[in-house]
Amino acid sequence: MQIGAEVHGLVTFQVGLYGLAWLIAARMLPSERPAILSWAGFKAMLALGLWLLSQRDAQRSWWAYNGANLATLLAMLLMVRGCLIFLRHPPPPRAWNALWLLPLAALLLLPPSQDAAPWRVVVAYGGQGLLLLLAFFVLRQPLRAEFGRWPSWGLMAPMLGFALHNLGAAARQLWHWPLAQELQMNSTFNIAIFYSYLMATGVFAIGFMAVLTHRLTARLREASMHDELTGLLNRRAMNEYLRNQWHRHLRRRHPLALVMVDLDHFKRVNDTLGHAGGDAVLRATAALFRKHLRREDLVARMGGEEFLLLLPDTPEPAAQALCERLRQLAHDEQLGVTLSLGLTMVAAEDGDAEVAVRRADAALYRAKTEGRDRVVSAPAP
Ligand code: GH3
Ligand code: MG
Ligand code: MG
Repeated sequence: MQIGAEVHGLVTFQVGLYGLAWLIAARMLPSERPAILSWAGFKAMLALGLWLLSQRDAQRSWWAYNGANLATLLAMLLMVRGCLIFLRHPPPPRAWNALWLLPLAALLLLPPSQDAAPWRVVVAYGGQGLLLLLAFFVLRQPLRAEFGRWPSWGLMAPMLGFALHNLGAAARQLWHWPLAQELQMNSTFNIAIFYSYLMATGVFAIGFMAVLTHRLTARLREASMHDELTGLLNRRAMNEYLRNQWHRHLRRRHPLALVMVDLDHFKRVNDTLGHAGGDAVLRATAALFRKHLRREDLVARMGGEEFLLLLPDTPEPAAQALCERLRQLAHDEQLGVTLSLGLTMVAAEDGDAEVAVRRADAALYRAKTEGRDRVVSAPAP
C-alpha cells in the first residue's frame, strides 16, 4: 500500500515552494547569495526526491528508487554546504567527503531491485544520518556564537532529529534484514517521516530567514553606530552613550571624565600628504586611542579630525595623566600630527551632559590658542 497521495503531494509542493522562496531571497539579498542559493538547491533537490519517491511502483525503475535516494542525499549535502557558507565556516577536512561520496557511489552502482533494497536503505539512510550528525556538531558552535543559545538549538534540533532518525532507519533495516524497509510502505512510521519532513523544512526555512534578518539588522545597527573611516563610534552613538553615562553618574556619582581631542594643523597634513594620507593619519589616531584606552572607555569621531573620549570611573588626576600620555604617544609613535586635548569632569551641577561637553570644548579651544600640542583642564563647577 502507498502513502496517501494527497499527503505526499502536499509535502512535495510545500518543499518546492520553500525552494522558490529561497530563490527569490537569493535575488534580494546579494550579500548572502551563495548560501541562499545552496538552500534553494536543497529544497529543489528534496522536492525532486519526494516526487521521485511518489513514482515508486512494481516496475521498480532506477529513478524512483536510487534516484530518489540520490536526490535526498544531494539535498542534505546542499543544505549543509549552505550552512557552512552562511556561517563563514572554513571547508571541512577532505576526508569528510567520504561521508557522501561512498553513499553516492553505492547508489549509482546498486541495482533498483528488491534484492538490493536492504543495502540501498542502509547506505542511503546511514550516509545521510552521519552527514547530518557531523553537520550538527560542526554548525552548533558558530551558530551559537553569532545568534545565541536558543536560536542555535531551534535550528539544530531538527537537524539532530533527522540525523538520529536516519541512523535509526539504517539500524531498523539491519534489524529486519533481509526484509526491505523502503519508504513506500504505508506504516505509521513512514507517514510520521513525511510529517517530520514538513515540519523540519518549515522550521529550517523560517528559522534561517529569522537568523538572516537578525544578521542583517545587526549589521545595519553596527554601521549606523560607527564611523566608516576609523571604525570608532560616530557622533550619534556617542550622544546615546553620553546620555547613559550621564544618568549613571547622577545615580552613583562615580567620576566621569570627558576629553575633547583635535588634531593640530591637520589641514597641513592633507596639503602635504594628500587626502588619502590625511585619512591614514586619522586611522592611526583611532588605533592609538583604541590601543591605549581601557575596554570600558568610549571613543568617538565626532566629525572631521575631532574626537571625544568618555572615561567612566576615572578621577581627574588619572584622566589628566592619560591625556598627557596620549599627547606624548602622538610624538613617540610618530603619528604625523600633534594633539590638543580639552579635559573636564562631568558634574551633577551641570544639569545636562551637553554642558560638560561645551566645557571640554572650551578647554580644547584654550589648548589651541595657548599654542597647541597640550592638555588643558577645565574645572567642573
Ligand atoms: P587646528 O590646529 O586649528 O585644529 O587646525 P586644523 O588644520 O587641524 O583645523 P581645521 O578645522 O582648519 O581643518 C581641519 C581639516 O580636516 C580640514 C578638512 O579638510 C580636514 N578633514 C576633515 N575630515 C577629513 C577626513 O575625513 N579626511 C581627511 N583626509 N581630512 C579631513
Ligand atoms: Mg584640527
Ligand atoms: Mg577641528
